[in-house]
Amino acid sequence: MDLKIYNTLSRRIEEFKPLQKGRVGIYSCGPTVYSHPHIGNFRSFLVADLLKRFLEFKGFAVTHIMNITDVGHLTDDADEGADKLEEAAKKQKKDPLEIAKVYTASFLEASKLLNIKPPNKYPKATEHIGDMIDIIKVLVDKGFAYVVGNNVYYDVTKFADYGKLSGNTLDDLNAGARIEINQEKKNPQDFALWKHDPKHLQQWPSPWGKGFPGWHIECSAMSSKYLGAQFDIHTGGEDNIFPHHECEIAQSEAASGKKFVNYWLHTRFLLFDGEKMSKSKGNLYTIQELIEKGFRKNAIRYALISSHYRQNYNFTFDGLNAAQQAIDKIQQCVLTLTELRKNKKQGAIAEPLRHLTSNCLAEFDAALYEDLNISKALAVLFDFIREVNKAGDMNSTAAAEMLDTINKIDSVLGVLDAADEEVPGNIIELAENRKAAKLNKDFKSADALRAQITAEGWLIEDTPGGYRIKRGEESQ
Ligand SMILES: [Zn+2]
Repeated sequence: MDLKIYNTLSRRIEEFKPLQKGRVGIYSCGPTVYSHPHIGNFRSFLVADLLKRFLEFKGFAVTHIMNITDVGHLTDDADEGADKLEEAAKKQKKDPLEIAKVYTASFLEASKLLNIKPPNKYPKATEHIGDMIDIIKVLVDKGFAYVVGNNVYYDVTKFADYGKLSGNTLDDLNAGARIEINQEKKNPQDFALWKHDPKHLQQWPSPWGKGFPGWHIECSAMSSKYLGAQFDIHTGGEDNIFPHHECEIAQSEAASGKKFVNYWLHTRFLLFDGEKMSKSKGNLYTIQELIEKGFRKNAIRYALISSHYRQNYNFTFDGLNAAQQAIDKIQQCVLTLTELRKNKKQGAIAEPLRHLTSNCLAEFDAALYEDLNISKALAVLFDFIREVNKAGDMNSTAAAEMLDTINKIDSVLGVLDAADEEVPGNIIELAENRKAAKLNKDFKSADALRAQITAEGWLIEDTPGGYRIKRGEESQ
């Protein structure tokens, strides 16, 4: 069986064939670091993470690159408005690099909280200006770009395939275009590759004078530098399709003469309580804010990956609570199996159980092979857990096998607490006694048992399904 994914370029589900057997190159448009990234931004990053984890699980060697945009992204995604970083810098009376540093740190922290596997590299736009200039030079030499004063523009009429990703035709775009403000451009849809602006805070020397790069050229330069002129998969949010990715294709294919990317994967927007997320609605929550509200980081991850990437996901606090309960169910099963693994009974795995694990893994794969059908994949996992719970007692060999199956699945989902240290028997005994005390409404004993568990360096947390124990200090 092979992976099938929806390719925005062909507008259909295609069988994934890597350029090189066993290897996959993925480029993901990363954050523009002018503010704290919010949950809406992270949905697309998490889809890239899920895809990458699944490909790695299936044995592919994945090279994943995610850029950090720290210059050139204007408030209007096309070609107008202020540079987002400059605007933030002026507002906060700081240097743009300082702004970039603060919000890059915030992005990396949130990525870590969400258990996103770091890409092989996070290239920064400001560290690749030379690579961008090199491509712009080629585009000018080949006649795809033109120089006006100290500015360089891409002439969209020179690239016959312009519009092939978004489906926009130049005729349609021109008909809907605003009255052209920029008299320098030959066509309204031409976009800047290099911009001259004496007031811009970040400037670099170039063959066309001092200036800064356009946003689109950054991704063309950084992707080809680390993945080659042609690579397998490019990911982003649906808002990146036009103009950003359309322009990336125009630049890269004109410069290299090769097909730029084979598969374009775009994640749909996140809604919050049924509404579009926006600054004015005040619903642009950051990961850190949700954690401060008491939600768990793995519940946020679970919620954000739990629906299909080509559907809008409606993010709600109720949904986060449900995500937490789902994780607790898995964690509780892991806990039970960890105990059963200590069982003295060994020997062969009973046939129904053996069948259960192989079935579960095959169905989990089949679901994700089907254009990352995550809902189906999660349903497979919960069916498995229900069967394991139903099986009850089992020998240690079987328990180890069941546990291994869950861990394999979690290497893709990434929602369980990091391979916790095994909980010692005496702590589990204390926890069980506490559970019994609580059931008997003997809260005094329950509190005393909790104190004993804490004194041993473990934390016990109540969950809808019972409790869970992990290493740690009581946080105040
Ligand atoms: Zn990009």
